[in-house]
Amino acid sequence: MLLTILGGCGAWPAAGRACSGYLVEHEGFRLLVDPGYATVPRLLERITADQVDAVFVSHGHPDHCADLNPLLRARTLRDDPPAPLPVYSLPGALDAVLALDRPGMLSGAYVLHEFVAGDPLAIGPFRAQTRPLPHSVPNAGIRLTAGERVLAYTGDTGPSPDVAGLARGADLLLAEATFADRVPRGARRHLSSARQAGRQAREAGARHLLLTHLQPGSDAAAARAAAAAEYDGEIGIATPGLTIDLP
Ligand SMILES: [Zn+2]
Repeated sequence: MLLTILGGCGAWPAAGRACSGYLVEHEGFRLLVDPGYATVPRLLERITADQVDAVFVSHGHPDHCADLNPLLRARTLRDDPPAPLPVYSLPGALDAVLALDRPGMLSGAYVLHEFVAGDPLAIGPFRAQTRPLPHSVPNAGIRLTAGERVLAYTGDTGPSPDVAGLARGADLLLAEATFADRVPRGARRHLSSARQAGRQAREAGARHLLLTHLQPGSDAAAARAAAAAEYDGEIGIATPGLTIDLP
């Protein structure tokens, strides 16, 4: 399983950098997880739009799904459009982004598979387990298994024992860490710190922790240090172009 980071900015894109976007590949199948703001230009530096085989969206905030629109446009506004793109999301999560164009314009470009958080999914060669995690809108974490390897991704979440459950024994936990250490009072139920991500990686027994969704302007070294106070394993920061091979 090969993970490529397209972007890892939380909330809004920084100069030259995209929001959440992760390309996960296995046996030639390409799953795009969370096409957030500005991820499509990063994606198209690597593959063509028609080479995406499926999309999974954790939740309906635009920093996690806004670039579904340009991805669908790039597939359908051409002479030989590819087959409709399977898109997996929670019910209603994509209503806004799918309404950006006039009705019907993109309707042939995708097939929407709405699931309930907790449902298992089969996406190409991936087995996926989903789990509801606490956020200001419904959010589904996902545990992707391919061959012997497991990648767990939180989407956006407040602290919850369900994160460790989702990532139990995972090879890699890709965890939202909007803040390094202290989460502002109003966000404490809905977003996490790097320290909390480290604690959850330890509780899960995850082999590797990758911090993502850091708010633009925040100190990556401070985030890494806060996570390291709780977790002994390898800690990385989701930066554009980073690839991690889980062989
Ligand atoms: Zn969010």
